[in-house]
Amino acid sequence: MLSTADALATLLGAAVQIVGEATLPTLDALNRVLAADVISPLDVPPMHTSSMDGYAVRIADLAHGDRRLPVSQRVPAGHAPQPLAAGTAARVFTGATVPPGADAIVMQEQTEVAGNEVTLLHTPKAGEWITQQGADIRRGAVILPAGTRLTPQALGLAASVGCAELRVVRRVKVAVFFTGDELTMPGEPLKPGAIYNSNRFTLRGLLDKLGCDVTDYGIVPDKLDATRATLRDAARDHDLILTCGGVSVGEEDHVKPAVEAEGRLSMWQIAMKPGKPLAFGAVRRASAGAASTVSAAGAASDSAVPAETFFIGLPGNPVSSFATFVLFVRPFVLRLAGVRTVTPRALSLRADFTQQKADRRNEFLRARVNAAGGLDLFPNQSSAVLTSTVWGDGLIDNPPNHAISAGETVRFIPFSELLN
Ligand code: AMP
Ligand code: MG
Repeated sequence: MLSTADALATLLGAAVQIVGEATLPTLDALNRVLAADVISPLDVPPMHTSSMDGYAVRIADLAHGDRRLPVSQRVPAGHAPQPLAAGTAARVFTGATVPPGADAIVMQEQTEVAGNEVTLLHTPKAGEWITQQGADIRRGAVILPAGTRLTPQALGLAASVGCAELRVVRRVKVAVFFTGDELTMPGEPLKPGAIYNSNRFTLRGLLDKLGCDVTDYGIVPDKLDATRATLRDAARDHDLILTCGGVSVGEEDHVKPAVEAEGRLSMWQIAMKPGKPLAFGAVRRASAGAASTVSAAGAASDSAVPAETFFIGLPGNPVSSFATFVLFVRPFVLRLAGVRTVTPRALSLRADFTQQKADRRNEFLRARVNAAGGLDLFPNQSSAVLTSTVWGDGLIDNPPNHAISAGETVRFIPFSELLN
């Protein structure tokens, strides 16, 4: 059996960034991945600004002990000041441009005003309450490197230097289908022996959160030719084919022989719980070699169209497919999109429970953070119990052959790191 680390390393080693970019208005680029560095064309702030409501002064004027100065101008934010006349103060407001010649701001709480004169109750240091031009960002600096996923904050940062458009990687195109003659869609009556296709909802949601462009083929019957036909069709215009169920070795598990017939496959028994079987491979593209293939964006050259489409087969058990998706498919898809940092950040937290039985496999236990900052464990860790994934707010990454004692520090991966 393969370790989770080795399985992930193999997947990430195989992932090649997809070809294809688009230019989007910055407002529409949320969650997309930057295809090029964003370089600031200006200093931020673009001029010296006051960070207080108060009075701009020349410190040299205060050397003689006189603290009373006439107010020579008034500078609200957004208005250009005159140079500060020697021996005077300028009334300034937060965000206002500091008048040339002024080298400190005295906040208004440390002044007294009478008529057109201000008395300073405090002797400022050079630069006091002035935000220097370029203090936040220097012109020419890379503020967001290629491969960054655009959060709301990143969009704000790009906008703060005036970027109206951003160059992004096109969305990763994922085809997904579900195998199992027992599967029924919610809304349809449940026949004896049938279950609802819950994984369709979980996996579609996970793919949507990753920003994928998804084609959902729905439920494919447990038949070899139907499975092969769907794979062939899906291979034509997608970067990844994701399937759910049918990757064990039972007679009704047709995904394995179908992928072997249409491409190549490595079946992995990963030493993890839940989610032991995982299939990885590729399906040949019917169009490979056809000279005139042009990508939807029209930008990719023929040589950039890969001859095959990646394939990942997830186990059918609901918690297993969820766990294998977040631990393996997520980083793989992000890498296809050109994201550099794809490993989730884990926390070291105290276990507030005891789990006496050690498992031979690497367990991913559904747990949640309690009010005391420790972790509680969901009582039923079966791979069929979807309730655990809703109750929990993360996974404890418990190494093989390791029992957990209350009070011990464990490695916890929050869902916030796995679902975005
Ligand atoms: P399989 O991987 O096909 O052997 O399925 C393992 C278990 O997961 C079986 O109990 C299936 O009924 C169940 N299962 C498979 N696919 C789904 C699905 N899409 N939604 C919910 N349960 C499923
Ligand atoms: Mg099945």
